[in-house]
Amino acid sequence: MPSTLIVGAGMAGLTAARALAAEGIDVLVVDKGRAVGGRMATRRIGDAAFDHGAQHVSVRTDAFADEMQRLVDDGVTRVWLRTPSVAHPERGVEARYAGVGGMRRIPEALAAGLAVKTGTPVDRLEFAATDAIVLTPPAPQTMGILAANGLAVPDELVAIEYDATLAVMATLDEPADLPDGHVAPASGPVAWMADNQHKGVSAVPSLTIHSTAEFAAAHIDRDPEAWTKALLEAARPHHAGGVTDAVSHRWRFSQPHSTLGCGAMTVGAPIPVVLAGEVFAGARVEGAHISGLAAAEMVLDLLS
Ligand SMILES: Cc1cc2nc3c(=O)[nH]c(=O)nc-3n(C[C@H](O)[C@H](O)[C@H](O)COP(=O)(O)OP(=O)(O)OC[C@H]3O[C@@H](n4cnc5c(N)ncnc54)[C@H](O)[C@@H]3O)c2cc1C
Repeated sequence: MPSTLIVGAGMAGLTAARALAAEGIDVLVVDKGRAVGGRMATRRIGDAAFDHGAQHVSVRTDAFADEMQRLVDDGVTRVWLRTPSVAHPERGVEARYAGVGGMRRIPEALAAGLAVKTGTPVDRLEFAATDAIVLTPPAPQTMGILAANGLAVPDELVAIEYDATLAVMATLDEPADLPDGHVAPASGPVAWMADNQHKGVSAVPSLTIHSTAEFAAAHIDRDPEAWTKALLEAARPHHAGGVTDAVSHRWRFSQPHSTLGCGAMTVGAPIPVVLAGEVFAGARVEGAHISGLAAAEMVLDLLS
């Protein structure tokens, strides 16, 4: 049975892995993180829980709609909000799905039944140990892996730049009382706030606060205590309750400025090496899904 190593257990890697496993390929998914999900992340701190990466998922393609419906039927996702897109108001009101109990439930469900090794950073690629490799980290990290293995880095990837996001996870002493569970302030430094209790993620009042890209660019390498305090102060007028505890997280490669629209890409190597991830198909969870499917198709073609 041919085998494929997939680096990255986010939406792109897990989607590729499931599609390949369904075709009888022996798949191993490895991720440097402690858990699966990548930027679809949920963190627990005491009794509080926080979605601190992707907040919700919207659906525009038939294949992703089918995937979401299957996850809804399995009790893994549900519609959290129905709101118009800020970037595309012409699309009207869209359903926004969230993981039941947290966004990480979605990748956890996708990983079920697959061979997945977390806590495993990949640097050296062992070309003799597998028939094909799929790399799904954000572009700068994929470029690092290619370079470390003497493989050419495609010019298209070099040009990709990412926005960062600074996230603050705050536990409150009473419900946050955000209208419809979320706020997107009109001006910075806070871009988005979500009430994890309203979302059904946290048993106790808890807020996720995301910075604007501009604030993140200016503060990401500075003292986290200072930017955490600044974001909490800026968020304060928007929520009820007092903050009892707060922790922070840096998303250095939060969202790419531009994407390539090719689904996935191969690079010259001793065995088929396919590059995938949201940067190849749209800077959202759905883009990562589309890219994962494209990567699986490329691997199947190259192995046939
Ligand atoms: C703060 C924030 C908010 C967002 N909000 C939304 C939203 O509301 N809706 C939406 O649709 N999208 C949102 N996104 C974007 C969305 O999360 C991503 O587009 C999508 O999850 C990307 O999936 P991926 O599989 O391509 O990459 P990732 O999820 O980044 O997965 C890549 C994986 O590769 C692993 N990895 C990296 N390097 C190595 C290595 N050397 N060895 C092993 N493993 C490695 C990483 O640990 C990671 O798990 C948001 C992102 C952020 C950060």
